[in-house]
Amino acid sequence: MIELKTHEEIARMRKAGQVVARLLAYLAHRVAPGMKTKHLDEEAVKFLRSSGAEPAFLGYRGFPATICVSVNEEVVHGIPGERTIREGDLVSVDAGAKVDGFYADAAMTVGIGSLSPSASRLLEVTKRSLDQAIAMTKPPNRLSDLSSRVQQTVEREGFSVVRDFVGHGIGRALHEDPPIPNYGLPHQGPRLKPGMVLAIEPMVTMGGCEVEVLPDGWTAVTKDRSFSAHFEHTVAVTDCEPEVLTQLE
Ligand code: MG
Repeated sequence: MIELKTHEEIARMRKAGQVVARLLAYLAHRVAPGMKTKHLDEEAVKFLRSSGAEPAFLGYRGFPATICVSVNEEVVHGIPGERTIREGDLVSVDAGAKVDGFYADAAMTVGIGSLSPSASRLLEVTKRSLDQAIAMTKPPNRLSDLSSRVQQTVEREGFSVVRDFVGHGIGRALHEDPPIPNYGLPHQGPRLKPGMVLAIEPMVTMGGCEVEVLPDGWTAVTKDRSFSAHFEHTVAVTDCEPEVLTQLE
């Protein structure tokens, strides 16, 4: 069942959304060559503590860190650690926060220094696929219209959409119904209604769509070790235009 949020609940989610937006903007500014991914996590811990927000991911099904940091062939759920960030890397950061009992969730991929042309294009196309899906997040569209738009945008450019992980509803829980695949035929699934809040998150690879999980039990990498990018926003459906709760105000 897809739970509809009241205006008051969405106002609370907006607060959580702004904490996540400011955290990602801060980390995008801090990330640099030579830094270990665990240092980004340490920055995130301090930032959330000073914002009065709870981390959403720490301890979630046993996840051991505050943010996910996934570099290059790592798609999602990377555990921050000893990996050193280098010039030319794609660093995906996924962050979630809980404020006043409500969650927000967002992700970005940052290119470090000068990127290869194909890596730049991967970033641009992944971000564009999210922006286009968000633009369609309004009545009377159906849920799979977003999924289909992401897939079309990505595959037209010769990239692949990851299928093993999907977006989701969000609210009092980090992951609520409905699941939101980044592929599929349009005009299917539930109609979008005001009060739905969706975490839309295309995960896109330069090579094949297959992923595998490393022995740490979390880090998902591309099977062919091709580069990957990930952008995510928490989006509220309204009567007219969608409200992106995790966009910096
Ligand atoms: Mg998410």
